[in-house]
Amino acid sequence: MLKRAGYDNVTVFEKGERIGGVWFHNTYPGAACDVPSNLYELSFAPNPRWSRRFAPQPEIQAYIEDVASREGVADRIRTSTEVERATWDEARAKWVLQTSAGEHEADVLVTACGQLSVPSVPPLPGLESFEGPAFHTAEWRHDVSVEGKRVAVIGTGCSAIQTVPSIQPLVEQVDVYQRSPGWTLPKMDFEYRERTKRLFERFPALRRADRAATFAFLEMATAAMTSRQWLMPLFRAIARHQINGAIKDPELRRKVTPTDEVGCKRLMLTDDWYPTLTEPNVELVTDRIEAITPSGIRTADGRERPADILILATGFKSHAFVAPMEVEGADGRTLAEAWQDVARAYLGLSVPGFPNMFVLYGPNTNGGAVSIIHQLESGIGHVVAAVRELDRQHADRIEVTRDTADEFDRELRAALAGTVWHAGCTNWYVDENGNDPSQWPWQWTAYRRRTATLEPGAYRLTAREPAPAAS
Ligand code: NAP
Repeated sequence: MLKRAGYDNVTVFEKGERIGGVWFHNTYPGAACDVPSNLYELSFAPNPRWSRRFAPQPEIQAYIEDVASREGVADRIRTSTEVERATWDEARAKWVLQTSAGEHEADVLVTACGQLSVPSVPPLPGLESFEGPAFHTAEWRHDVSVEGKRVAVIGTGCSAIQTVPSIQPLVEQVDVYQRSPGWTLPKMDFEYRERTKRLFERFPALRRADRAATFAFLEMATAAMTSRQWLMPLFRAIARHQINGAIKDPELRRKVTPTDEVGCKRLMLTDDWYPTLTEPNVELVTDRIEAITPSGIRTADGRERPADILILATGFKSHAFVAPMEVEGADGRTLAEAWQDVARAYLGLSVPGFPNMFVLYGPNTNGGAVSIIHQLESGIGHVVAAVRELDRQHADRIEVTRDTADEFDRELRAALAGTVWHAGCTNWYVDENGNDPSQWPWQWTAYRRRTATLEPGAYRLTAREPAPAAS
């Protein structure tokens, strides 16, 4: 988007050996998108040839690499290069980056580190003592075969509900350790027929209409979780029906049925989770994990179940944002210090004291539904607007004002309080102190609208030199 806007001098640093982010790193069996692919693509790089409604990981990774190459940006990306530190040089109005490959300077810094990029490994007693292979879903060991093995999976979030059905037919036994269940909805995934793909290629309006319908549905789900919670009973009825239709055993039904509000934890889309749990080689364990032993897992009831392989489907350090990268802004204050209590940014993008810096997928830019790609495009649109404004005013410094950021923060907190994510469950949005640095509490059309331009007075720009007289 920057290149398309005429800003060609862009360098991208990527820690991984290849681009793709979560789609490069998360290669666990069954990894696939849980947002319809027609909305999980860049609006300016449509793909009429998705194989399925919800594309699998290798196809999304291939799409990302293909777009980079088609847009002519692949050569700007420095892979296997980690940015360790970014320091704002006030005198020269430049960001100075220390990377694993040396120093780099930039006028504008855009962080795009994701909210789900640092795996979270819980401090389970005895974890280190486990003698078999133990790994996180985001760091899948492809050199380890699960075939014929006894596998223990800890966690029942989005990653687990994709992994377990994929490995269940291969393993001797899979024990799934659930701390608290989450609500699910039918995924209704399907393969696109060749005829449909050709129609999408031939009639882009058809593809756009399909995408608009997906967006409208996800906006409705967003409304149900935020301002229109009277829509929730509809989702609850579908979710209950899914459980009751797939599980006959009343005890298993009880175990998988959440007691909290639908949508409080991330709603999970699946067609095969409950049928898999009824398979004879699957056990859903709900007793608290007391300890990991060298050869299995011991639960609070004193029982130890043996395991050859331990899989941690335990999610991510979602509130780490740009960490472990250190960012030092004006006055020597670091982002970690500014975010000591809770991470906050105006529109999730701009932090007072950190001029010329924008945080993509920053605080409060996640949703309970909708596509992160749509949200990222909105964020980058804002970055482009800011860079254009720097040019237009012949300025070299742009910073959100403290008043603007504080006012946004007040507005945000008030709106978050009434959302379903704060209805009293555990989820990766709300921290142990009740702070929510994750969720956007309004519609996504509102995010697109608010980020499209720079609100008058929101930013302070400092001019480098008087603008030349108009010719
Ligand atoms: P997650 O939703 O945070 O789930 C982590 C699971 O581990 C939860 O069931 C949690 O239980 C459990 N857990 C954590 N610590 C534990 C402990 N000490 N003992 C026992 N259980 C523990 O993580 P995730 O499944 O990786 O998904 C994270 C997010 O990534 C999703 O919400 C979604 O936004 C995204 N995602 C997307 C896709 C996709 O298809 N596009 C796929 C995977 C993930 P509690 O619920 O009780 O805390």
